[in-house]
Amino acid sequence: MIQLVDKFERVHDYLRISLTDKCNLRCLYCNPDGDLEKLLHSQILSYDELTRLIRIFVSRLGTKKIRLTGGEPLARKDIVKFFETLSQFKKENPFQLCVTTNGTLLEDKIEQLKHHGLDKINISLDSLQRERFEKITGQDSLETVLRSVDLAESLGFTPVKINVVVMRGINDDEVLDFIEFAKDRMINIRFIEFMPFSENKWSENSFISYQELKNIISERYELKELHHEIQRVAKDFKIQNHKATVSFISSISNHFCGSCNRLRITSSGKLKLCLFTPINEELDLRKLLRSPGVSDDEIVRFINNSLDRKNFQHPDVGELLKLEKNNMLAIGG
Ligand code: SF4
Repeated sequence: MIQLVDKFERVHDYLRISLTDKCNLRCLYCNPDGDLEKLLHSQILSYDELTRLIRIFVSRLGTKKIRLTGGEPLARKDIVKFFETLSQFKKENPFQLCVTTNGTLLEDKIEQLKHHGLDKINISLDSLQRERFEKITGQDSLETVLRSVDLAESLGFTPVKINVVVMRGINDDEVLDFIEFAKDRMINIRFIEFMPFSENKWSENSFISYQELKNIISERYELKELHHEIQRVAKDFKIQNHKATVSFISSISNHFCGSCNRLRITSSGKLKLCLFTPINEELDLRKLLRSPGVSDDEIVRFINNSLDRKNFQHPDVGELLKLEKNNMLAIGG
């Protein structure tokens, strides 16, 4: 077993895989015009290729946690069958299996996914107001998503993690509503700073920092910081005298790159050492997977050797705004 360690001695044991660049929503912070170019089915990794990669990362490269993202991962055909395929391997080679979903396609699958080994669910929910939800996502399905949150909680996916991308002038006036919604439930509200991706019309005016959000909440609630052995992505807080927790993901105003443990695979099979790796520096795993005679050993060496190229942190906003074709839809955040 090789541990994936970069030159800053960060151990990379968390892999995020985008299963598809397709999504049934078109969120303002991801694909506002709904016109991002889509990949052909032949261009995205097949379930066999995904299974092979997961086997390699878990059994040869020390991966402990895998998050399936999209686009919308549950929009991919035969997703339940894919989980079933993974479930036997997961029993023999334990790892944590997580999904980030928009919650609109979850209700009829969640029990089967749980049965086949799903451990954790993050549900994206950026407004509790029906019309505004439709304005942000392009679809009138707030009720469906709220039912999915209820179902996830009742099935024991606790805390249910709710991802909220906060945009100034769009939904920042709902911060306290989200706390009110969650405070007496087994829910972790995760306020995510709006990040610049290609085509998502990011601007300083629409950006609001985690500190500002925390100040808004602290005016009404007492927050107690939760400390972890290793500070990962989120700054976590207990809402005193209540069940729920609140977290802040401050990639822009206060990055957490120093303890980065994440690698990503795009839906087209490119390895991204960082969320903001420029497209011309992505590494082509699909080509290797589709080259006759390339062994798992060669893929292991390729991935392990690539870690040397990882930078310590993401570039500043000015540079991020210059990145081309670096869109959420293909990366999955
Ligand atoms: S921006 Fe890149 S280096 Fe920083 S935490 Fe995210 S993936 Fe890691």
